[in-house]
Amino acid sequence: MKSINKQKLAEVLKQWSKGHAVMAPIDEGSAASFKKWEEGKEIQLDKNTTIPAKSVFFPQTEELYEYKVEKDNLEIVECAPIEEELVVFGIRPCDLKSLEMLDDLFLTRGYIDPYYKAKRDNAVIVSYLCGKPCRTCFCESLGIDYQKAEGADIAMYFDGESFGFIAQTEKGENLLQEIASLTEERDVKLPEKQELKLKADTEGLAEKLAAMFEHPYWDSAYEKCIGCGACTYLCPTCHCFDINSHNRACGTGFKTRCWDSCMFPDYTLMAGGHNPRPTRKERFRNRFLHKLQQFPERYGKTACVGCGRCISKCPVNVDIVAIISQLKEVDINDQQGMDRVG
Ligand code: SF4
Ligand code: SF4
Repeated sequence: MKSINKQKLAEVLKQWSKGHAVMAPIDEGSAASFKKWEEGKEIQLDKNTTIPAKSVFFPQTEELYEYKVEKDNLEIVECAPIEEELVVFGIRPCDLKSLEMLDDLFLTRGYIDPYYKAKRDNAVIVSYLCGKPCRTCFCESLGIDYQKAEGADIAMYFDGESFGFIAQTEKGENLLQEIASLTEERDVKLPEKQELKLKADTEGLAEKLAAMFEHPYWDSAYEKCIGCGACTYLCPTCHCFDINSHNRACGTGFKTRCWDSCMFPDYTLMAGGHNPRPTRKERFRNRFLHKLQQFPERYGKTACVGCGRCISKCPVNVDIVAIISQLKEVDINDQQGMDRVG
């Protein structure tokens, strides 16, 4: 297999960045996220990023088009989707799986999002297989093998001294060709697999939740949640966005889309003032019903990849694994519900 010593990683990224924008996990102090790598920037590979890799394909803020209003005329100039060649380096198997869900949303059912598609088409994905999962990881419960890179162009792993690269597609082979002068033929040992402590059982849950919209479980389950939205912003599968106008002088301006969260009160607030999800209870219920019932009904998969970000970052310890386990135990005929969330 192709391998490099860890000392050569910066040289590899430098070589790739001659023909591509290399997006890699970079920690600049507050939260690690996928950013454009430049010489001198430190890569963070020892743990998963705080901000998921969805931000490469579906950025937190993205300009869509410019507009100009002159008397009765409206002129719209669409922003061309970004066509630059990307290398997405170091994406973990859970975030990789989340791209399948974003693909379902942005590329199927008769609608293709050109901004998302351009970035997906132009990306070569180098996935980093996990050696040491975190205590909040439960990806295996969602059918993900954290030492496989399904859907990536290259699978990469690290034995503590060297990185090994295995091309899985033609695009991957071509990318490895670009660093042929830096690699050597040598086997790199895949780190020993560890058993994940956290497990979630979602079997049959979508069907059960379809009958639980009015269940009293929700009357207390939401109580801890303060509606900060961190869980949705940091979730690799959450994909809601808002569209904003930015008016300049003389009738010109531009529109952007930015991440939104169903945990915010104004997410469903309508122009006339009506809000179908007026309290935290409805918003909390929506988050779980969407992930565990509605997305599986529509696309045949749970909208969670078990990355554990929402567990580790929730300021009040709302834990999706605990919620799944409680939901599994709820008696749908029990109208008293459960007293509280553990
Ligand atoms: S991170 Fe926790 S407190 Fe914040 S909205 Fe999500 S569940 Fe609620
Ligand atoms: S719901 Fe939580 S654990 Fe599941 S993918 Fe989203 S952030 Fe990760």
